[in-house]
Amino acid sequence: MSYSSDLKTEATETKLNRRCCILAELAALIHSAGSIDLGGRRLFGVTFVNENEAVIRHIQRLLRKFNDKLPIRTTMHEQKRHRVLYTSVLPCEEAGALLSAVGVLVCREDGYGFDFSFPGKLLRKPCCRKSFLRGVFLGCGSVSDIRKGYQTDLVFHQEEFARRMTDFLAEESIPSSVTKRRSHYVVYIKDSAGIERLLSAAGAGSGVLDIENQKFIRELTNNANRAVNCDTANTMRTVNASARQCAAIEKLERCRVLPELNESLRRAAEVRMEYRDASLDELCLYCGDGVTKSGMNHRLRRLIAIADSVTEEGD
Ligand SMILES: [Zn+2]
Repeated sequence: MSYSSDLKTEATETKLNRRCCILAELAALIHSAGSIDLGGRRLFGVTFVNENEAVIRHIQRLLRKFNDKLPIRTTMHEQKRHRVLYTSVLPCEEAGALLSAVGVLVCREDGYGFDFSFPGKLLRKPCCRKSFLRGVFLGCGSVSDIRKGYQTDLVFHQEEFARRMTDFLAEESIPSSVTKRRSHYVVYIKDSAGIERLLSAAGAGSGVLDIENQKFIRELTNNANRAVNCDTANTMRTVNASARQCAAIEKLERCRVLPELNESLRRAAEVRMEYRDASLDELCLYCGDGVTKSGMNHRLRRLIAIADSVTEEGD
């Protein structure tokens, strides 16, 4: 199963209780994964399509909670190693009542009409807004593998619906944008905190944990890289300083000044030439006369200063 599919299966384990929320979720599923069936004699049905078996079972549970007498039929189609499941509420009075309850079927004086606009009326309470987000996620959502990057898409047929969806997401502090992809309108979310809010509302908690985990790993990697860069910079500084010191000592040797210097300076020059890659701490150790780090630093500076003061033939 894909990453998205696992998260959807997890989201279907959410308990369904309140009738207001069941309607909001069914509305989301009808708009994102449903189509209306015309049965004649003013009877209507609705068919939901999804690739995930758990989502199909979840839709059936929602439908039974709405009305346990709804005639439901499920079928399966294989398309090139690709399995698609359909679950239908056959055309009947009760199915019409469901479509009216979610605002899709509208009774008018001159007959019936359909309204596929955004069902804002059903989304006034926080509990229903959460259920609606779950329905949309289950119906038309996909989450890219968190380890490869943050992106969640919600795919719709109608541009107007997609635009209203981004407004709704913005109200829930989930920033998103709309783009056209072939004949569809895709609402996409790239903000990791936004994706976390959506998944958390939908009941896909493991997705939230994956994002948190991924952030933690990235932070660790960044810190480790910083530490390595810092080490490299220190090493470069040591190498540059050593090169300068060695050049000075070589000059003092050439000009026969070195034997004239005192014991501590000569000793420092000796270990510096012998251990060119050593740090100050290490030089103190090799020097063996109890010199401190600042003492060693002072000796090396003295050597450079003396070398600078000596005029070499050809200077
Ligand atoms: Zn509710």
